[in-house]
Amino acid sequence: MLSTTFYADVLRRFENQNTVTIATGATCAYLGDERNIREFLVADETARWLRRAGHTVLFFLIDDSLDPLNFRQLRVAVNKDEKLIERYKHWCGKPIAHLPDPWGCHESYAGHFEDELIKRLHSLDCHPTLVTTARLYERGVYAPYVRQVLDHYHEVMEYLHTTFEGYSPEKLFWPLCPHCRYIHEAEIIGIYEEQAHVYCRCCGETSNVHFDDMQGKLNWKLDCAARWALFNVDAEPFTKSYMEPIAGSFAVAQGLSRTFFGGHEVYPLVYGTVKMDNKLSYSVLQSLPTSAFRPLLTERPSSEITLSRELVMTAASRYSVLPGVTYLDFIKQLLPMWLLTPESLSASQRDLLSHGIMFGKNFLDTEMRLHLPTRANLEGEQPAVLEKIRGLLKHVIGLREASELTYEDFNAQAKTFMEPWGRDKGPALHRLRLLAGQEQGLPAMRFLFILPLDYLNLLQYMLELYVQGAAAAARQDEEQQDDTRESVYAVA
Ligand SMILES: [Zn+2]
Ligand SMILES: [Zn+2]
Repeated sequence: MLSTTFYADVLRRFENQNTVTIATGATCAYLGDERNIREFLVADETARWLRRAGHTVLFFLIDDSLDPLNFRQLRVAVNKDEKLIERYKHWCGKPIAHLPDPWGCHESYAGHFEDELIKRLHSLDCHPTLVTTARLYERGVYAPYVRQVLDHYHEVMEYLHTTFEGYSPEKLFWPLCPHCRYIHEAEIIGIYEEQAHVYCRCCGETSNVHFDDMQGKLNWKLDCAARWALFNVDAEPFTKSYMEPIAGSFAVAQGLSRTFFGGHEVYPLVYGTVKMDNKLSYSVLQSLPTSAFRPLLTERPSSEITLSRELVMTAASRYSVLPGVTYLDFIKQLLPMWLLTPESLSASQRDLLSHGIMFGKNFLDTEMRLHLPTRANLEGEQPAVLEKIRGLLKHVIGLREASELTYEDFNAQAKTFMEPWGRDKGPALHRLRLLAGQEQGLPAMRFLFILPLDYLNLLQYMLELYVQGAAAAARQDEEQQDDTRESVYAVA
């Protein structure tokens, strides 16, 4: 199933290049759902393939933080909270890097969502270096490119008009209005020598700004071409819609790059879009652990994908989360026991547990509960068989506590332990399965190897109590019978 061609093509392309730079882009105006993640995971997976082949890879996440906030983004960002929308709607039109953090925990609005995105990507084992473009513009890093565009404004317009049929951008540069600091309604309406004439529809003011004092950002395609040159970008993910050859974004940015910015060549990592039913929004991320979610988006990067219930169920039954245990088996058979002592789980186990609980809720319509044996699971079994199970549990707990055995060694030793059981072995293992709620699925030795030790200890303890209780009850019965006999004798 793994698309080796996609990654093999990348390896071939960069075979003779030691350092490879991959860039991804985002506007961190809200976090978004599963549909916005593939670009980063495909880039990260590409970086892994290159690193494994011995390359040094730089991987950037570039936030277009001078982009103006728009109403749709604000709505998603505040979770459609009407009060917050009302309170912040006057922010729309200002660069996200210039707005305060609505929750007050970061230096800016952009900073808040940059952090959220980076945290999410880290949880998916994806580790880009964050670059925020507002800072680059502030520090003058873009200045030569901005200057180049302002100096050749009409030439660039003319070039675009004649080369890319049907593409004539509204503006090449988005000036920030020096009066009201909104960016969305300001535009350059004329250029005289080294001055730009900026008109802002938002406040109605007109300003003359010297090229050197110009604040704002390049139009996205020009910005893209500029950053290729700035960071020596070698590869960048694009969806197919950006790759349209006549006037697609990639072709335009490439043309601009070659004609005006020195022509740094970029290899497009073309990936398929992710579609999903709105009802599933966020629930896939909550429900699948990284080991199942990541390959879903990276194994065949070029394929279009629709995240559906069926696809999520298939992924859960396909990807292993523990040696020999698929995610679905884990949820049905191990997770309930892990609930016994969540505090003793490792961080990665806890992560698996919380995803599993959400998977149960979102995709199996069940609330995951701790499974404990009931009296009914024990009743009717011969005490000798129960005693054997108790002995086995004690033995395997000892084995697991003593050393880090491989499953093969563990299995062999446990089997040796059961050798003298003879004909009791079948019924004993059957009873053990009932007790541990493992009637189907994993082999008995496999679950004894992976169930939490606390759970096995608890099982052992319950068996001990039951066997002792049953023995006491049997003694009492005998005594009562003796009493009855005595009284019968007494009467006689
Ligand atoms: Zn914050
Ligand atoms: Zn203004």
